[in-house]
Amino acid sequence: MRAHEAGALHGDHGNRGPAWLRTPEDVNGLVPQLWPRTVTRADAGALEIGGVSVLDLAAEYGTPAYFLDEEDLRSRCRDFASAFAGADVYYAGKSFLCKAVVKVVNEEGLFLDVCTGGELAVALAAGFPAERMGFHGNNKSLSELTRALDAGVGRIILDSFQEIDRLTALATERGVRPKVLIRVTVGVEAHTHEFIATAHEDQKFGFSLAGGAAFEAAIRVLDEGVLDLHGLHSHIGSQIFDTSGFEVATRRVVELQAQIRDARGVELAELDLGGGFGIAYTTQDDPSPAADLAKRINKIIASECDASSLKIPKLSIEPGRAIVGPSVFTLYEVGTVKDVDGIRTYVSVDGGMSDNIRTALYDASYSATLAGRKSEAPPLLARVVGKHCESGDIVVKDEFLPADVQPGDLLAVPGTGAYCRSMASNYNHVPRPPVVAVRDGASRVIVRRETEDDLLALDVG
Ligand SMILES: *Cc1c(COP(=O)(O)O)cnc(C)c1O
Repeated sequence: MRAHEAGALHGDHGNRGPAWLRTPEDVNGLVPQLWPRTVTRADAGALEIGGVSVLDLAAEYGTPAYFLDEEDLRSRCRDFASAFAGADVYYAGKSFLCKAVVKVVNEEGLFLDVCTGGELAVALAAGFPAERMGFHGNNKSLSELTRALDAGVGRIILDSFQEIDRLTALATERGVRPKVLIRVTVGVEAHTHEFIATAHEDQKFGFSLAGGAAFEAAIRVLDEGVLDLHGLHSHIGSQIFDTSGFEVATRRVVELQAQIRDARGVELAELDLGGGFGIAYTTQDDPSPAADLAKRINKIIASECDASSLKIPKLSIEPGRAIVGPSVFTLYEVGTVKDVDGIRTYVSVDGGMSDNIRTALYDASYSATLAGRKSEAPPLLARVVGKHCESGDIVVKDEFLPADVQPGDLLAVPGTGAYCRSMASNYNHVPRPPVVAVRDGASRVIVRRETEDDLLALDVG
């Protein structure tokens, strides 16, 4: 169990203090780092996003629904672009991809990573220029590689020797010379607040550095000369708060870069350090602003390149969660409130693990607040659960809600922009919720709610 979660389970909920010290103001208050930037609580008590009350949004679009703060999303794109000026910022599409988001990412001048034919199709359908895209994946099919080449995808991140052979054959056939990066497994694993550096790298992605596969792959691509080896790539994990993992990864990748130079006299132009920058899901999380990350990462690269007498390569990064995660909250309606033998209060909402699998899948922590009104009732430590036939169907493990929370109340869970709609399922034949973008007092559906007819349309009997 992670340290911050252990705290939550014992009722010590971060800097908000234990339940008996909490006041109604705490329960009604919004901790800014958890919420999209335009979200406020109006005097009358309901949350507003982009100047629109959640009461109106719930009436118009129903619940559960994801509400995306478009201004917030754009501002986070800009934060990364300006903090990492001179670098290429690839939005990691797997965190959440739909045409409207692709357009925002494009308008804000970012690049885009996709990792399947489906993601590529969405990006192309939204008019994203293929030359600004990267294509990832440990098992890209022949047809996906073909589509990527035909579309003119700007770079393909190589993940296996078989893929080098496949892409080399396809490129030869077509007489093209695609830009490629080699994904290097550097033996650093970072998840949440901790990172570990391991000697061997037991995972499906990339070419092992320690075992020599990464060096061999680079040499093979250079010697064959069919693919245009542009640089090395490393992605060490997700929800990372501490740059020391990036530091170790950078040192190892730069050393490999120096080995390649020594062996073939080639200095690779680009260094991609991947994504994984952490965001706040609870008050325990304190993410660094993009500008601080950029400063630290650029410093690490400069000193490592200096140590190896390499020119500083062009940096690229691939944030997903840190761009779209905080831009969205999920709005639910409470259906039942159950006090179980004085042990715990279960607040059931009209969605659950089908719209947010992360709590069940990763033991992730979230927070929640009463969204449609304020309350003067004392705080109550509650667990927010979904409507699925599964006892692990938990949305928020522990949260202080006002003790008068009741059926019909609206509940908002922030930080659900990344890996929630994109990982949503139809478990129990629950149709997936819509995504509604809100900006400047206006709202529009960008992904419509699924219907039972949609579900039945696939079921051809
Ligand atoms: C998932 C992934 C990312 C994005 O990770 P976030 O935690 O969303 O920032 C970036 N690059 C690669 C290669 C990934 O697999």
